[in-house]
Amino acid sequence: MVAAGTGAGAGRPAGDGGWGFDLPDRLPFALQVLLAALLAEFTSYWSHRLHHRLPSLWWLHALHHGSERLYWLNNFRIHPLNHAINYVLGFAPLLLIGTPPDVVLGYLALTYPVLMLQHANLPLRSGWLNYVFSTNEVHRWHHADNPKDGDRNFGRALVLWDMAFGTYRYRAEGNDPVAVGLYQPTSYPAKASFARQVWSMFLPGCCRAAF
Ligand SMILES: [Zn+2]
Ligand SMILES: [Zn+2]
Repeated sequence: MVAAGTGAGAGRPAGDGGWGFDLPDRLPFALQVLLAALLAEFTSYWSHRLHHRLPSLWWLHALHHGSERLYWLNNFRIHPLNHAINYVLGFAPLLLIGTPPDVVLGYLALTYPVLMLQHANLPLRSGWLNYVFSTNEVHRWHHADNPKDGDRNFGRALVLWDMAFGTYRYRAEGNDPVAVGLYQPTSYPAKASFARQVWSMFLPGCCRAAF
């Protein structure tokens, strides 16, 4: 437990969170990190799911799904606006409730190892961790080239909200989609250069891609 004046979060006055909310700072540090993770993952989940539902957001997000092969560089194959929206929706709620920096860092430390391996082109087998984290075995399904398999696993690093909203997909055996890439047909210029894809958001004809 975070004792007053001795540990992480010490010295924070009660009610120092913005907007009248506050993460309960008398809870054990690990529990504060868990609560922060649940909140950030909830908003990240819906941000991601909306990017698959709204045509203009899908056009932004299609850049991430255009690759027909998963490898670690896919972590960075994200439209800058998509990246900005993800961070605003994912972290603004934590800031609004006055989440202490050490708790945010705890959440990042818990989830960044998962994110760094999420697109790895490695035969990683994570066992029971696939029921907690959106590992590369789990996230690969999200990149499937068909909506039946691909409209799954929207969680940023945890799978809890996918389980809660019925979008979780994982198989212990045969756990690979047949192919990854955009759903077909689509008018998105997935074969164009990275710069052309980024700029395509601002050209006539944008945002009419089939999902
Ligand atoms: Zn996606
Ligand atoms: Zn991905």
